[in-house]
Amino acid sequence: MPKAQETVLEIDLNALKHNFEHLKSRLNNNTKFMAVVKAFAYGSDACEIANYLQTLAVDYFAVAFVHEGVQLRKAGITKPILVLHPQAANFKILIDNCLEPNLYNAKILSEFIAIASAEKLHEYPVHIKFNTGLNRLGFSENDVDFIAEKLKETNAIIVKSIFSHLAASEDLNEKEFTINQIEKFKSIAKKVTQSLDYKPLLHICNTSGTLNYPEAHFDMVRSGIGLYGFGNSEKENKNFKPIGSLKTIISQIHTINKGESIGYNRAYKTDKLLKSATLPIGHADGIGRQYGKGKGYVIINNQKAYILGNVCMDMIMVDITNIICKEGDEVIVFGPNSTAENLAKTAHTISYELITAISQRVKRTFVGN
Ligand SMILES: *Cc1c(COP(=O)(O)O)cnc(C)c1O
Repeated sequence: MPKAQETVLEIDLNALKHNFEHLKSRLNNNTKFMAVVKAFAYGSDACEIANYLQTLAVDYFAVAFVHEGVQLRKAGITKPILVLHPQAANFKILIDNCLEPNLYNAKILSEFIAIASAEKLHEYPVHIKFNTGLNRLGFSENDVDFIAEKLKETNAIIVKSIFSHLAASEDLNEKEFTINQIEKFKSIAKKVTQSLDYKPLLHICNTSGTLNYPEAHFDMVRSGIGLYGFGNSEKENKNFKPIGSLKTIISQIHTINKGESIGYNRAYKTDKLLKSATLPIGHADGIGRQYGKGKGYVIINNQKAYILGNVCMDMIMVDITNIICKEGDEVIVFGPNSTAENLAKTAHTISYELITAISQRVKRTFVGN
């Protein structure tokens, strides 16, 4: 690997391929795979990632918002794209880009049928989401008759899939709750399907659902975090390779005397002689202030260097008192060996938050393949 000369997020496409193949190996041959590439493919690069995955056997893509789907179409993605959380204000753009909406309540279903009819669409693919316990988005079981009636009245739309989302698929203490969600989903899906003369795809599993509930794969699984290299448990993490390495360099080294302070608000005061390194990465790059004051760390020459004082907008200062290094040396913020998941834990958060926070200011580079 070339050494970093500035702050970069290096994305390993071989690792992505490995993760995809591992997830596929956990599925039956005929189970479809939806790659979730919302939020810049979890902070990496949605267009590059989707284009690469499109060359593998991915069946579907999912994004959160319409404009994320538009970006994928502009980048040459031709596979179907589910928009998980569309807003009615963007329906025209959604249709113009052949994106497929998740319709999750009576209001958005009626609004979409209205525009689809006005545009004289015929059997435009949509997806119906049910709430089975997450209490976030989705119709309730009581809405099934209403949905069936709405669908009978129109041929402007066709239901490509019926789906739900698990609340605690990574938490085996909540197994009973999860199984209950799955059972509820089965019963809802059966009722909806009975009212149609065709068979929509059924899906409920995210990455952890896919790994922990093989009996609930139905026709398709939706995976995000697994593709990016995290299995959400110590055991499963071993099967995945984090695709992103966030690297930077040492801009400057200071010797700090006893009694001096480091950074804004003098948040770190030293009672001994120490050596600090200033790095060109800060909260505007995605390293939040919660990592400051000794919680977060980076890796320099295979050793942990903890963050001293407050995280600045464009810089952090780290403790290199016991590390042999020099200005210009490479620094690993996270990567396959010092993972984003472990760094996230120091700030009481999860890998998802840390990796999706890496801002667009950070240059993305690609290795592998
Ligand atoms: C984000 C999301 C996923 C992907 O979840 P992972 O845990 O990253 O696999 C799947 N389904 C829905 C509805 C989501 O919002």
